[in-house]
Amino acid sequence: ILQLYVPLNWFGTYYRAIQKNFVDMENMFDLLQETCDVIDIPQAPMLCVAQGAVEFRNVSFSYTPERAILKNISFTVPAGKTLALVGQSGAGKSTIIRLLFRFYDVESGDIFIDNQNIKTVSQASLRQAIGVVPQDTVLFNNSIKFNIQYARINASEEEVKEAATSADIHERILSFPDGYDTQVGERGLKLSGGEKQRVAIARTLLKAPQIVLLDEATSALDTKTERNIQSALNRVCASRTTIIVAHRLSTIIHADEILVMHAGEIVERGRHEELLDRNGVYASMWIQQNTKQSEPSSDESPPSST
Ligand code: ATP
Repeated sequence: ILQLYVPLNWFGTYYRAIQKNFVDMENMFDLLQETCDVIDIPQAPMLCVAQGAVEFRNVSFSYTPERAILKNISFTVPAGKTLALVGQSGAGKSTIIRLLFRFYDVESGDIFIDNQNIKTVSQASLRQAIGVVPQDTVLFNNSIKFNIQYARINASEEEVKEAATSADIHERILSFPDGYDTQVGERGLKLSGGEKQRVAIARTLLKAPQIVLLDEATSALDTKTERNIQSALNRVCASRTTIIVAHRLSTIIHADEILVMHAGEIVERGRHEELLDRNGVYASMWIQQNTKQSEPSSDESPPSST
């Protein structure tokens, strides 16, 4: 029923965005089930998540037959731990995330959540267990309250406000003309990138999944916004299994494991300090990011995009 709120022209735009980027895949699946090639096996059981451990075992994948994108990727993320994926553009980081969400099926190898192969469980239950904080959150043309509550439509107003508070956006919402009833999205109040990201964090907090996938924004936010968002993100990831596609290495220095990807392969892996000691690809990325001081752009005012 909720899907009827969405104007039709929005579908096309959204679908194109989603195919290219890792944008709000959760919503996209709800809206466009029929366009998805991935199908459940008959009577697929529900994924049963106790701890939320993730394992990729010898996973290979390509979008088109002539070009391998992931080559024999293996890693495990123990329950509650954080894995970071880094590497230059096109290395295959987002593809890993898409496969875990079962946006595509792997070509060979297997993906497990708590020892259940994700191919064998219902997609609905898989997606229920995973929360996504995308790089770019698309808002519904609806109230800000609806946009947060979407994660769990039976959540009470109190719970919505609690999630917004933890995501550090409650005060900002109260400053909007109609508070939580303010219309946002393309035809309403436009929110800044940082605000939209916090809406995504609030949604995920409300959904309370065992596994969180985080696609870090590439654009630099100003330091204050960055700090606020980082602490909200820490709250959403706390005690949850987290996989983060990271662009700024400063945000992942505490990750339990960092995978450095290059052309579909893991070229280095370890913790931040270990990788610095290796003096390899990661160490040079670190040096490069810390010597290049890019001008931070202000994110908070005035809001400029949907
Ligand atoms: P970025 O940091 O830029 O997001 P990434 O490491 O996340 O890069 P992926 O998005 O996983 O990279 O893409 C890996 C490769 O797969 C890229 O070369 C990309 O062009 C290609 N690719 C991604 N999506 C598709 C698709 N739908 N069809 C064909 N090729 C694709």
